[in-house]
Amino acid sequence: MSSFLVFAALIGCTAATAKTASVGGAPSPRPGSPRDEGIPPTPEQTVRAIYSEALEHGEAFDRLRTLVAQFPGRLSGSRKLDGAIGWAEATLNTLGLDRVYTQEVRVPHWERGAKETVVLLDAGNVVPLAATALGGSGATTGSGLVAEVVEVQSLNDVVTLGHARIAGKIVFFNRPMDPKLIRPTEAYRDAGDQRNRGPAQAARYGAAGALTRSLTRAHDDVPHTGVTSFAAGQAAIPAAALSILASDRLSAALTAAAKSGGSVRVAMKIDAHMLPDAPSHNVIGEIRGSTFPDEVILVGGHLDSWDIAPGAHDDGAGVVQSIEVLRIFRALGLKPRHTLRCVLFTNEENGSRGSAAYSTAAKEKHERHVFAVETDNGGFQPHGFNLGSTQGDAHERAAAKWRPLFEPY
Ligand SMILES: [Zn+2]
Repeated sequence: MSSFLVFAALIGCTAATAKTASVGGAPSPRPGSPRDEGIPPTPEQTVRAIYSEALEHGEAFDRLRTLVAQFPGRLSGSRKLDGAIGWAEATLNTLGLDRVYTQEVRVPHWERGAKETVVLLDAGNVVPLAATALGGSGATTGSGLVAEVVEVQSLNDVVTLGHARIAGKIVFFNRPMDPKLIRPTEAYRDAGDQRNRGPAQAARYGAAGALTRSLTRAHDDVPHTGVTSFAAGQAAIPAAALSILASDRLSAALTAAAKSGGSVRVAMKIDAHMLPDAPSHNVIGEIRGSTFPDEVILVGGHLDSWDIAPGAHDDGAGVVQSIEVLRIFRALGLKPRHTLRCVLFTNEENGSRGSAAYSTAAKEKHERHVFAVETDNGGFQPHGFNLGSTQGDAHERAAAKWRPLFEPY
């Protein structure tokens, strides 16, 4: 967390000190801060001050504790998300920023309903499987869905099996995250098509339901939810993620049944439903740039979370880190040359309406963004910074310029 703060703040700070060293103007800087010295600090001194401020006086963890305690399960359209949006605006208003405002967005409103159940019916045995409905799942009807299970490893397997062997069945996507992909996010993305688009693919071939192996490497009985998407006009079938242990259990039952020429059935009950789009908001706070007020450096995270989780890592950590960047600038009396903006997006988990609305508004206002970073990889021990760019070698030049400033840390 601290590395993120140092880096994100440095970007604004480098801008503040590179030529004009225009620190000053913020209310009551902390004694001993760069501004308090009365002379322009060097970039190295400014980074050191940010580092110390974050570690000695950081408020991010306290804010995270409040956010997840008061507003867990902040899924789009929920009252918890509305509460978190109000909290975020009030929090930014305590920092003495130049501007705090919200941006209205209409967001999808999916509700899980009653707790889902998935049960393995295997040779007379009834075995509950740890499962959670995927966001966007349809509901089962009547007393639930009971159907034979077909295990596949990919979306292409569904095509190969074809309508005759898929129709009326529950398709079970069970390709694990590739252990050879060392970076967890890469392995997550690589296996993610099964959850994101598998149920829709199965539905195209007449499947009655879908199960997916949770996108995690944790060998436990905790299922992980996430979004699944259906095409416009396509009916959403019931779809749930199984824990890793439940996935292995089901797969073993299918293998054993195949040897004896039998089959395995699963019973699913899902109560999910999609409601009309709901009003929501992005929350934005900023410190106006002293030299380039119309050029923006953005730090951000997303306020919404899944309904069954407190949303601390995903993405409460990103939210409080982004708020902390502005707090540190104020605490140290640093005045950036470019506008430094914190954007707390709505609706990242089951859509991206918040970021889309922000982007549309920025284009309409002809705002120029010189740097933007969203933190959404959890609040773990930081290992470094991932600088990607679609515009030439800007990221490489930035890394070359700033890397020496980070080496002491
Ligand atoms: Zn996230």
